[in-house]
Amino acid sequence: MDIRAQVSMVFHLDKCIGCHTCSVACKNVWTDRPGAEYMWWNNVETKPGTGFPTLWEDQDHYKGGWKVTGNNASPKLELRSQNKLDSFVKLFYNPNQPGLDDYYEPWTYKYTDLFNAPEGDDQPTAIPISQITGEPVAIEAGPNWDDDLSGSPIYAENDINLEGLSDEEREQLFEIERISMMYLPRICNHCANPSCVASCPSGALYKRGEDGIVLINQDVCKGWRACISACPYKKIYYNWKTGKSEKCILCYPKLETGQIPNCFQSCVGRIRYLGVLLYDADRVAEAMKVPDHALVESQRTVICDPFDEKIVALAKKNGISDEFIKAAQLSPVYKYVMKWKIALPLHVEYRTMPMLFYVPPLLPVMGKVDNGIYENPLEQFFTSLEKSRLPIKYLARLFSAGNESLIESVMKKLMAVRYYKRSLDMADLDVVMVSRMMREGATTPEEAEAIYRLTALPTIDERFVIPEIQMEEAIESTCNPEVCKGSCGLGMNQKVERGL
Ligand code: SF4
Ligand code: SF4
Repeated sequence: MDIRAQVSMVFHLDKCIGCHTCSVACKNVWTDRPGAEYMWWNNVETKPGTGFPTLWEDQDHYKGGWKVTGNNASPKLELRSQNKLDSFVKLFYNPNQPGLDDYYEPWTYKYTDLFNAPEGDDQPTAIPISQITGEPVAIEAGPNWDDDLSGSPIYAENDINLEGLSDEEREQLFEIERISMMYLPRICNHCANPSCVASCPSGALYKRGEDGIVLINQDVCKGWRACISACPYKKIYYNWKTGKSEKCILCYPKLETGQIPNCFQSCVGRIRYLGVLLYDADRVAEAMKVPDHALVESQRTVICDPFDEKIVALAKKNGISDEFIKAAQLSPVYKYVMKWKIALPLHVEYRTMPMLFYVPPLLPVMGKVDNGIYENPLEQFFTSLEKSRLPIKYLARLFSAGNESLIESVMKKLMAVRYYKRSLDMADLDVVMVSRMMREGATTPEEAEAIYRLTALPTIDERFVIPEIQMEEAIESTCNPEVCKGSCGLGMNQKVERGL
């Protein structure tokens, strides 16, 4: 076993209000500079919808992530974006890259017109101009163009996760007045089997040993952009000014001093949790070779129990500090993913083993209206899941590689927790029915209380359990300032010179 530590994340989607504060907090700090205007290391999408860049989930087109090749006896993982024959050619021409139209042409407004317009009867206006060319531009797309289902079903119907839904299920989603949606905040998943790292011909991408954060060495990056194709989540961006690729760095300069990443700290809905997971790096590749429906379970087998003495001993042998091990034992991510099993990876079928997990939204299940009357979930508990406004099949496409029974088990547990808590305060619930729900949701009063506590009332210390990494340790383990000269893009050696 090769035990590694990973700073990992959970996003609780029932709590996301789609305010985009996270995106702006990230942009203000990291991508508010020339060449990076169109980048959103953190973005929030409305689902169903086509996302950013447009249709990023369409791997038939973008060829991101890994595919399984070989026979059943000896399956192999191969990058979808490259093979031995065409990887050299694709250095010079890659038809699977997103273009500017798939993102959007960043724009600002010609504010000087407001000040310099001659006196007249009409109010002066500031026309939109491209931030790339400076020329007037017709705005045809933006990073949140289909936000809050604006324009739906024009955009939402193109969501590729709707494939395979019956007419009735589509009607459930798109019937006006019953239309339903959810928010999906996205950052780099800091994957355990990152296809971006495997694809880089220059070796510029790497996964940090001490905390699993995936970074691009800016001095080594040659701007080949193979990583942009290979990342199935489209979370690597090309800086047109510097000619290098860039991505989310999980605010590692903050993490190293025990602080919270910007998008996490600023989250208005408090949907975000951050903590350490221990995992067995020896088993990552094997675990990602199983059939789609078994991938979530397979990923869980790679994540280790931080209370197991054998795991702790192996972790220490691998140089993982006591502080990291303690953080893994207190990790809210471990509770959601492994203990309660209600947080799932996004599109695990891309086989990059994403280390960001989502608690799927329950609200649409509870909000089903039939003939103008809200269904009573107590009576309908066992059937309401099938008729939920966001079809189980759709959620399964997002969070369990199509395994609907996994989504159902998460939903049942979430519903059981909600009705258990309600039963304590309200006299309107049948005790027999609630205990039946608890059985069906495979939960207990103790577990329900713990889930409720971490979901609804967590303190900041419960949401973010961050082991502090000493700056000197981080420099030593991630880059040698003598060699890299601030190649992480953040100028770590410059930061040291500046006494930060
Ligand atoms: S999500 Fe992040 S770590 Fe995973 S493949 Fe994409 S860029 Fe790499
Ligand atoms: S700040 Fe939090 S609540 Fe607001 S959009 Fe981002 S993840 Fe959702």
